Amino acid sequence: MKGIGFANVHAYVCEQYGEATWQRVLNELKSDVRYEVEHAIAIGWYPVRCFADLLRAVDKVCGRGDLGLLKEIGAAEVEHDLNRVLRLFLRVFTPSQIFKVEARLWSHFQDSGTWQSIKVPNGVDATLTGWAVDLALCVELSGYLARLLELTGGRDVRVNHQRCRAKGHEACLFEMRFGERPKQAKGH
Ligand SMILES: [Zn+2]
Repeated sequence: MKGIGFANVHAYVCEQYGEATWQRVLNELKSDVRYEVEHAIAIGWYPVRCFADLLRAVDKVCGRGDLGLLKEIGAAEVEHDLNRVLRLFLRVFTPSQIFKVEARLWSHFQDSGTWQSIKVPNGVDATLTGWAVDLALCVELSGYLARLLELTGGRDVRVNHQRCRAKGHEACLFEMRFGERPKQAKGH
């Protein structure tokens, strides 16, 4: 995966908890993973398992060690990934449409994993195959997707992730449910 994810998590921890906490997170990592995290550059490519280790360390130091903090980190990552201009641009999509864009964006940040999505009543079912197997990554991704849907105007967004490769299923299914904003009348 691209190193930008490491930079985003670093920024999140420093903004929310401060530099000293970031050092405690680094201290939780095995030395080879720590090296990758500390030397990651945004456009470099890194093993996604290092990112999983980093997420678990942040959840342990800043959260309760139950992966509960990772949805929030995923949401924060959207804010860092997308600049203000791109966010305005997102408003022209509906939540259902954005998923087609996200599936394409994915390959810019990840070198494995394939998305298939279908429109269902009140949402989209998206299946990810062939990506890393780690629940920490999937929880963080759920938070990322939820925030992305909110930015396109999705209301009451929920992302359920019961079928997961980390739980022995064949693929990861993200059941995204949301209300779409009403179509804007002309002249607005
Ligand atoms: Zn999963």
